[in-house]
Amino acid sequence: MNILLLGSGGREHALAWKIAASPLVERFYCAPGNAGIAKECELIALDVADHAAVITFCKAQRIDLVVVGPEAPLCAGIVDDLAAAGIKAFGPSKAAARLEGSKGFTKDLCRANNIPTAAYERFTTAASAKAYVRAQGAPIVVKADGLAAGKGVVVAGSVAEAEGAIDMMFGGGLGEAGAEVVVEEFLQGEEASFFALCDGETAIALASAQDHKRVFDGDQGPNTGGMGAYSPAPVMTAELSRRAMDEIVLPTVRAMKAMGAPYKGVLYAGLMITAEGPKLIEYNVRFGDPECQVLMLRLMSDLVPALLAASDGVLKNFDLRWYPDAALTVVMAAKGYPGSYAKGSAIEGLDAAAAVEGVEIFHAGTKADGGRIVANGGRVLNVGALGKSVGEAQQRAYQAVDRIRWSDGFCRRDIGFRAVERERKV
Ligand code: AMP
Repeated sequence: MNILLLGSGGREHALAWKIAASPLVERFYCAPGNAGIAKECELIALDVADHAAVITFCKAQRIDLVVVGPEAPLCAGIVDDLAAAGIKAFGPSKAAARLEGSKGFTKDLCRANNIPTAAYERFTTAASAKAYVRAQGAPIVVKADGLAAGKGVVVAGSVAEAEGAIDMMFGGGLGEAGAEVVVEEFLQGEEASFFALCDGETAIALASAQDHKRVFDGDQGPNTGGMGAYSPAPVMTAELSRRAMDEIVLPTVRAMKAMGAPYKGVLYAGLMITAEGPKLIEYNVRFGDPECQVLMLRLMSDLVPALLAASDGVLKNFDLRWYPDAALTVVMAAKGYPGSYAKGSAIEGLDAAAAVEGVEIFHAGTKADGGRIVANGGRVLNVGALGKSVGEAQQRAYQAVDRIRWSDGFCRRDIGFRAVERERKV
């Protein structure tokens, strides 16, 4: 098979690493990719937003499957455009990608199908949203309806803070994404990410993960795209995973099919594990980054047949095997991230780091510059490891981190701390 992967982050390097390991793959390309992905396949300088250019490339290279990493091309309908040109792609259609693209759409789907989620209302004016906030009281959560690059959610501790968020969103602070707003109940519990592979008709569970969104140790400081992750999430017992499938994922897949927008691809459910059980916080329509990196480390089976089965609608009797080990990844970012940061500094010691037992390094924002690897983004490297426990994986990952010489980089030193504490108590 000939495969084209779209994207350029650590998520895509992890996918590329698994795809390249498949005996089914003949030619393998990635657009636009990064210096790490270049070790797995051939990089192509395509603009992913230019669907016509992607289609032309696929036809010329006889691509059998396009794997779409990030959400933006999915929400822009790249899977629909590829399908119209007769090209198979892994990922949801534009209509199905509304599960991530519109929070209001997803909340209405939950309400109509009894899927457990926070109580909510949708608003198109600031006055009505504020009246609702005042009636409900704080804490309360204000969300922009559309894609807002992780900036669209304000967990407000007071009515005044919620009103400020409503004014910011309706005032155009998030552009079009804030033209509609969802206000919802504040949920209490532990968060976990749960992943399922869907084929339009049914779904199979992948695995669970937890990530660290804040930039500094102890989960302090501003939010980022994610500073590290581990899998499995200890909070997601087998019983809770079963409930997440039965009460959340499968009813969603059935509802999407019933409305004529069958969901194919990875469904990433952000869950709050409350006293009453798992509740949906939000859906993403692709693998998480850096959660994908830990899932791929733990996946024993060939990924390519699974992606094909999802695209072809034949997941019903499909089975995936996983290593029993835990996986953990530490994100190394450029100093200044998630604010402004410099690009172009050299990174050394990667081979020595990769030699630590159980370690696999995925590149997120790197570029080859002559014989050197240089930083080319905010999140730059994912240093991951497998281990018998989260604690062992953590120890191996930091041993590798300590072999990397990059003066412009930093990382959190406590990724996985809650899981490691839990392991110590057992
Ligand atoms: P989202 O972008 O929807 O995942 O929201 C970002 C973060 O806000 C989540 O990971 C939660 O930590 C928090 N959050 C979102 N919705 C709620 C809620 N209803 N109750 C409590 N926390 C929430």
